[in-house]
Amino acid sequence: MSYKVLLFYKYVKIENPEKFRNEHYDFCVENNILGRIYVAEEGINATVSGSEEDIIKYKQHLTSDPRFNDVWFKEDPSNEHAFSKLIVKVKKEIVNSGGLEVNPEYGGTRLKAEDLQAMYENEDDFIIVDARNDYEYKIGHFKNAIKPDVTNFREWKEFVEELKEHKEKKVVAYCTGGIRCEKATAYMVQQGFKNVYQLEGGIVSYTKNFPDQNWLGSIFVFDERRIISPNSRESLRHTAECFYCGEPASYYINCHNQNCDKLLITCHSCKEKYDYCCSDECRTSPNRRKIYHG
Ligand SMILES: [Zn+2]
Ligand SMILES: [Zn+2]
Repeated sequence: MSYKVLLFYKYVKIENPEKFRNEHYDFCVENNILGRIYVAEEGINATVSGSEEDIIKYKQHLTSDPRFNDVWFKEDPSNEHAFSKLIVKVKKEIVNSGGLEVNPEYGGTRLKAEDLQAMYENEDDFIIVDARNDYEYKIGHFKNAIKPDVTNFREWKEFVEELKEHKEKKVVAYCTGGIRCEKATAYMVQQGFKNVYQLEGGIVSYTKNFPDQNWLGSIFVFDERRIISPNSRESLRHTAECFYCGEPASYYINCHNQNCDKLLITCHSCKEKYDYCCSDECRTSPNRRKIYHG
């Protein structure tokens, strides 16, 4: 059977998130949809998987609600469910902004993948900013992208402050699917930046349309696939080095000692050779979890 992985979000007012959550949960259970769905008064953020048929039903169900009739779905084929369980949770925010009090409606201008591609081709003068985490940047990023030293959006404020001399310049922010740029760019607009853009559909949309171009490396995704490689050219697949042997690598594991849990980039052979652990100490720990075969 063929499956699909579906990724989408929307900032839209949901009056009664609890009620919405319960109905949505029931629909997912009835239709064998698995994954992670966050619901808040400000909107919805989801990554789910299901059989091709069930995903069609799910999309119809969602878009029959006028609040979601224009949702943009990012779809990937898969051989199986990308998730092993279903989590539908009511949250305060659909993605943690670390208290950025901005209205995502005033976010940066949406930039289409082909427009970013054209900016690279024309060698436009622009700043491209990675709005994701460190470990995501390491495994892959856009050519010339700057990675501010931020681990959360609280530090984003400091970064934006540092960037203030470039207020008039074109600034493009990107993340995996677009959601993390909504409030991040809204904050920049609020701070007086004149030419702020956010990559529509994020990295996933760009790399689908323009593989082997300006995306260097792989993509970290928040489902059980963990890493996907959009490029076909071997030289463009890796930007990271194996923690163990230093060779090009494109796997991410958490050290399997649950007390350590350190994120490690590794090549395929080393992750098995070293039993998914960062050190001898972790390898012999009684808190080692079972090996995840992904
Ligand atoms: Zn290695
Ligand atoms: Zn460890």
